[in-house]
Amino acid sequence: MNLILMGLPGAGKGTQAEKIIAEYQIPQISTGDMFRAAIANQTALGLKAKEYMDRGDLVPDEVTNGIVKERLAQDDTKNGFLLDGFPRTLDQAKALDEMLADLGKKIDAVIDINVPEEVLVERLTGRYMCRSCGASFHKVFKPTKVEGTCDRCGGHEFYQRDDDKPETVKNRLAVNIKNSEPILAYYKEQGLLKSIDGNRDIDAVFKDVQAIID
Ligand SMILES: [Zn+2]
Repeated sequence: MNLILMGLPGAGKGTQAEKIIAEYQIPQISTGDMFRAAIANQTALGLKAKEYMDRGDLVPDEVTNGIVKERLAQDDTKNGFLLDGFPRTLDQAKALDEMLADLGKKIDAVIDINVPEEVLVERLTGRYMCRSCGASFHKVFKPTKVEGTCDRCGGHEFYQRDDDKPETVKNRLAVNIKNSEPILAYYKEQGLLKSIDGNRDIDAVFKDVQAIID
């Protein structure tokens, strides 16, 4: 089963990915892991990617695609794989089809975990940190046991990281939505897109994932 997992930040993609790879024994292929491995193994493409990253530049598609193709050609993907964080653009989606065709493979399903934007904002802006010890809490998912008191150090002062502030979160979501729309449309046209209601508890979402895979 060759799968792509899609979903906006906060949709619960990481959690579902963990459950999928545990249940179906297929490797999770994320771009971050692939870059790290290619660089650690000093492959030609890995070294090239490192040059761009060291300069703080975006790694161009041809390098990223090459690294993905090398990874997809490895033995452990023969029973399937779960792609996470790739493709990020329509061009990458088209390149992926070509590289899979070269390898005699194809995508079987694209699972999109769908959560309304306002719920994502609530999930993503809920995090707050203890100013004295740095412990991290969440208004909804992991509140302090005693309101206003850090569980770890007893501190009373908290703050939000810039990344977790509503404006930043909304911008990040807007960019992600804009980037993912053409990719979702591309897979929908091919009849591969399976959308799941992600605004439920983890196990209910995973039941739908299993129904698609099985
Ligand atoms: Zn603390």
